[in-house]
Amino acid sequence: MRWENLTGLRDEPMDHGRAGDAALFGADAVVTRTVDTPEFSGVTFHEIRARSIVNRVPGASRMPFEWTVNPYRGCTHACVYCFARNTHSYLDLDTGLGFDSQIVVKVNAPELLRRHLASRRWHGEHIAMGTNVDCYQRAEGRYRLMPGILEALRDYANPFSILTKGTLILRDLDLLRQAADVTDVGISVSVGFVDQELWRTVEPGTPAPERRLDVVRALSDAGIGCGVLMAPVIPFLGDRPDQLRATVAAVARAGGTSVTPLVLHLRPGAREWFMSWLAHTHPHLVRRYERLYAEGAYAPKWYQRRVTRQVHELAEEFGIGPSRAAGFRAPRLPEQRGAPRPAEPTQLTLM
Ligand code: SF4
Repeated sequence: MRWENLTGLRDEPMDHGRAGDAALFGADAVVTRTVDTPEFSGVTFHEIRARSIVNRVPGASRMPFEWTVNPYRGCTHACVYCFARNTHSYLDLDTGLGFDSQIVVKVNAPELLRRHLASRRWHGEHIAMGTNVDCYQRAEGRYRLMPGILEALRDYANPFSILTKGTLILRDLDLLRQAADVTDVGISVSVGFVDQELWRTVEPGTPAPERRLDVVRALSDAGIGCGVLMAPVIPFLGDRPDQLRATVAAVARAGGTSVTPLVLHLRPGAREWFMSWLAHTHPHLVRRYERLYAEGAYAPKWYQRRVTRQVHELAEEFGIGPSRAAGFRAPRLPEQRGAPRPAEPTQLTLM
């Protein structure tokens, strides 16, 4: 995927592109503005005007939703395991540090969505957000795209779900409440573990797990049920029984309506970055990881089942409701073979 395909605005000039941009994006760069700001030291924002904002999930996906909206590409939360890293390669951007610091911002996302929802061809299907990168990452504090997106969804009573690690979602609590009054709204917060040391090294740009659980609590207090996607459970670093117990207990204390475990998976792009981090920080684990992920991106079924069973048992012990893909209350997926290609690669990651 190249820039011209992403935006459909090949001729749009840069406002103040820097000298390196032309080389980075090619002669027909479509970045409308490239921004470095002291407020976000080391981060570059590439503001673009996208051509479309609602993307169809590829037919082969196992996800229980069909449509997604992603106003950003790249994520300053910088999780070393981030499954979306590879999507930066579609833009000819680096999937390591570049993913953490080169953020593409679809500045016209709210107006595009409103137009899409108004279309007679749209039938009010469920829209999932936060399925690729976090829509409440720090950049959202600057660009404020989500309020316009939520207003459009509210005005058209369009069901939606959000998955996030960002505490910024509480800024939009009123809008979420208003939307929940007229349509089906599902919120999930991603908390794979509460281990402080692990958090600092593995998810360096994210709010602390406790702060994310505060979000769960605040949403529950506001009458908007919030589930926890316990993702990822990281083999040999975050999967000890006492670690799983501490996490599920904290979810219960926060009032999470469900807890759904997801074991780390390592797709191309994420795998290289994670393994180089592992070699640097935990070299003794490299061989164990190579064996566990010898078959590909996923840990073996027996391992996944063991973690799932442990978490389910703990959820029951702590009185958390039936575990399911909380927040993703999408309708059944229709047969999607032969469906049109998404306007951009819709790589679903579930943080
Ligand atoms: S896992 Fe989620 S929060 Fe972390 S970097 Fe990726 S998109 Fe951002």
